[in-house]
Amino acid sequence: MTDSLRGVLPPVYRPLFGSFFDRPKVVETRATCDKCAMCDHGQPSPVAMDYFRPDTKCCTYFPQLPNYLVGAILADPSPEMEEGKRRVREQIKRRFGTTPHWLNRPRKLTLIMLGYAEGFGRAKSLQCPYFDEANPAASCTIWRHREAVCLTYYCKYSGGKRGFDFWSSFKNYLWHVQRRLVKAAADAVDPSVVEPAFRRNALTLEDLEDLPPKDSDYAAWWKSWVGREEEFYVRCYEWVKKVTREQFVANVDEIETGRACLSDLVAKYEQLQNRVLPSRLVRNARMTEQHAGDKVVVTTYHRFDSFALDKDLYEVVGMFRASETLQENLARLAAEGIELAPELIEFLYVAGVLVEPAGPPKTEAKADASALEAKRAALSAIIRARNISLPPPAQEKIAKADLATLDAWIVRAATATKTAEIFGEDEKGST
Ligand code: SF4
Ligand code: SF4
Repeated sequence: MTDSLRGVLPPVYRPLFGSFFDRPKVVETRATCDKCAMCDHGQPSPVAMDYFRPDTKCCTYFPQLPNYLVGAILADPSPEMEEGKRRVREQIKRRFGTTPHWLNRPRKLTLIMLGYAEGFGRAKSLQCPYFDEANPAASCTIWRHREAVCLTYYCKYSGGKRGFDFWSSFKNYLWHVQRRLVKAAADAVDPSVVEPAFRRNALTLEDLEDLPPKDSDYAAWWKSWVGREEEFYVRCYEWVKKVTREQFVANVDEIETGRACLSDLVAKYEQLQNRVLPSRLVRNARMTEQHAGDKVVVTTYHRFDSFALDKDLYEVVGMFRASETLQENLARLAAEGIELAPELIEFLYVAGVLVEPAGPPKTEAKADASALEAKRAALSAIIRARNISLPPPAQEKIAKADLATLDAWIVRAATATKTAEIFGEDEKGST
């Protein structure tokens, strides 16, 4: 299990998540957290860098912990969780973001975080309360039970843009899971507790004055649990531990958002593993560029992963046309004496220098058509990667299927060994 996606999950999720999570885990070797890749170790750089502080690294972030993960931390008997427990208890007592569904940051901080990009990794004042700078080898004191953002964040990706897309999709799925479980757990433990409904981006007087909520408000949310919040969180954890796989599928994976998040996650995983290339590519018009001699330093999909391109290559990728397919572009360039190896195209796509053209504004029908094309390509790539033959009747089915059906088949294909397992009973005889 340690080598699978399931192995990277907090323990409470492991019995609940589906067979897709038995696929090999994605290892990010470029994000060297022990010797943080974003800190200054004297490494050469073609342009000036804004390095992270070694005593914060990327943990200038105050996470929003789901009630059942708070309970998992408090109930974890391992000695290495003692420091994390102490810190979590401190946050609960402060009451700033202590609600039945979450243990959250002060709301004033949420507003600050809307515009804190410049200080990310560098503002000591934003250091996570669960970050232990005195213990560089294990600086996250709640690591085993960390939430969706912390579980999926990397500053650099071995698979480049595809890796970024995979982890973003993983985060979306985990967020969906968190939202469903916090509410179900709180309702099950005590349906009388109330999750406060704050107005978005509006602060109370107490928020502005760095004070905890009024006692009367706090009591209205927590009812008989005031002073027993830790027990409530542990009860939420114990409730989630008893959820069966069938209940989880019905209430999390099989509702509309769950299906969409999971099928997107499977598709992104397949694109990462099978290196699916879009049929059309152009130079990324949104990348930022710094010209330095015969190099151009570009920042593409991730602002912490800049790199230098030869100026000649930069000019060549500018010759790609959105009106032509990748093969047509390569043939035209070859006719002009410019040969681009497949490995170089792969590198430029992974690095986010070549991207799918955004194109003119799409009508809904066109958007649907392009979504269908992408899903068909993803499904075919998964089937090929799993060495399953695709007879003509099955190909015809894929060509005629709608988006929802393709989503369902993508999920099934991720673990299938023959076509019948993908297309169901009606595909008998096509294997
Ligand atoms: S993910 Fe965070 S800790 Fe790890 S290398 Fe990147 S910035 Fe450093
Ligand atoms: S919870 Fe852990 S990983 Fe997340 S920001 Fe805090 S110290 Fe970093």
